[in-house]
Amino acid sequence: MIKIKVCGMRNADNISELLKVTPDYIGFIFYDKSKRFVTDFPQVDVPSSIKKVGVFVNETIDEVIRKVSEYKLEAVQLHGDESVDYCNELNSKMTIEIIKTFSVDENFDFRITQNYESHCNLFLFDTKGKEYGGNGLKYDWSILKKYEGETPFLLSGGINENDVEVIKGFQHSKFAGVDLNSGFEDAPSQKNIEKLKEFKERLMQSKFQVDKDGYYGQFGGAFIPELLYPNVKELEDNYIQIIESEEFQKEYKSLLKDYVGRPTPLYLAKRLSEKYGAHIYLKREDLNHTGAHKVNNTVGQILIAQKLGKTKIIAETGAGQHGVATATVCALMGLECTVFMGEKDIVRQAPNVARMKMLGAKVVPATSGSKTLKDATNEAIRYWIQHPETYYLIGSVVGPHPYPDMVARLQAVISEEMKWQLKEKTGKENPDTIIACVGGGSNAAGAFYHYMEDEEVALIAVEAAGLGVDSGESAATSQLGEVGIIHGSKTILMQDEYGQIVEPYSISAGLDYPGVGPLHAFLYESKRAQFMNATDKEALAAAYELTKMEGIIPALESAHALAVLPKIDFKKDQVVVVNLSGRGDKDLETYIKHLEE
Ligand SMILES: *Cc1c(COP(=O)(O)O)cnc(C)c1O
Repeated sequence: MIKIKVCGMRNADNISELLKVTPDYIGFIFYDKSKRFVTDFPQVDVPSSIKKVGVFVNETIDEVIRKVSEYKLEAVQLHGDESVDYCNELNSKMTIEIIKTFSVDENFDFRITQNYESHCNLFLFDTKGKEYGGNGLKYDWSILKKYEGETPFLLSGGINENDVEVIKGFQHSKFAGVDLNSGFEDAPSQKNIEKLKEFKERLMQSKFQVDKDGYYGQFGGAFIPELLYPNVKELEDNYIQIIESEEFQKEYKSLLKDYVGRPTPLYLAKRLSEKYGAHIYLKREDLNHTGAHKVNNTVGQILIAQKLGKTKIIAETGAGQHGVATATVCALMGLECTVFMGEKDIVRQAPNVARMKMLGAKVVPATSGSKTLKDATNEAIRYWIQHPETYYLIGSVVGPHPYPDMVARLQAVISEEMKWQLKEKTGKENPDTIIACVGGGSNAAGAFYHYMEDEEVALIAVEAAGLGVDSGESAATSQLGEVGIIHGSKTILMQDEYGQIVEPYSISAGLDYPGVGPLHAFLYESKRAQFMNATDKEALAAAYELTKMEGIIPALESAHALAVLPKIDFKKDQVVVVNLSGRGDKDLETYIKHLEE
């Protein structure tokens, strides 16, 4: 997270406004030659999460200490020619965070900073000018490549709202944040709070997170009938607040632990690793209650639905997996559950239909069109319009905003666990590669979530190629699809020349979705993730291989992720995580049928 220091504050009202922007530091200048010199210290209650910094230029140590205790400062910034001994003495006399400023230009010798390292917490690299500090001029930040020290630093010098993209792209392992001052002022010391707010929002906005309108790049949004606006808006206005609340987190984490069985193990598949010449870890989502990752999401959404006061839940399902996960949490919470399912799928997925019924859900057949998933979705939406009091529980990172983002946040527990598990097992939080299968994209979104910003972690999304990408019987959406609108969001989907959705095909029922979620469309377009695919045959072979070599029968969907292992040229000692999204019990019939082939 990039830290923000706003410097040169003096006016109490302006500071009160600034607190809403929640900077990390607020700077007060105690240097009488500055235009922002503080004479009367403003009386404002600054919360402890925001540090008050006193900025001094060649001040006596006694005076610094006096001001620190009088104004309860949490940090001092030394902006003059203070020596290493000066810092050392200050340190020995009081415990306080010390920020040392260095004025740099292309001739600056960064070795000077070395002796300061053990006495300072943070450096600030400012423009070299005639006067001390605050001359609002920019220098060429690429000079900082020469800095090889250990102490983190702030960038300073004339930063304004036009620098957001450059700052976001600035690469240095010790880069900690920015110092903002004259670039955001209406008059000396008077900050333009709106400008600061927008700057911070844009700075914090990751390109892999939805923007305020629910878009990842050009993908996402909410394309819904007007009658659904109030419902979707209610969810949009509340979901982040609910998810981030302590109460939700406590209930969600407790259910994930005691009901779902998390954390799921991260297992080093030794024999598989030997065969493919890399350290291959399996993230065992197959060990979750109900046999797949889907329950992470339904547990989260059922809590959200309850907080919104909803008592009736609807969902749609293709293979029945999401229907079962939804019926499960509805039984758990004693809520009424209606699941829409294509008539054809009801016949094909009889065991899951039986499970849903036993769990107390009502299964409503969709009898229109091709009588499969997209028709079930249409039925669910139609019902939702007529019964706006119901909560629509969507099963993947698809649908209108905020669903894709909400589901990704709920599945993010997968990569959250991967981080500490990898650290424990390999000493590093980051693997080299993460592989996950993609239907709508929720298990992949969860496995990628905390790694999307770390470009050194390769992300591989695997789609189902059915009988072959160009066979006409496939679900390789990114390869075959085009930009369009499905299920209320703009994304990549398989459609014919008239914009009609093409019926997808895969041996695995969980992957034959004609689109991918908007996040994945963006990961594909931006090339952040590599999209590969596996045919039915390759997936089956991978499933048999895992079963024989590791004693784990994977879901057919997860087998697609495993199926790309032979296609990748791994470097020795590379750390690879395959997200094993589900277990194979549900696919036994298919496995047995093909065993002879
Ligand atoms: C549903 C399902 C998938 C596909 O859905 P995503 O949203 O892409 O994760 C993958 N694996 C299993 C086991 C599933 O049940």
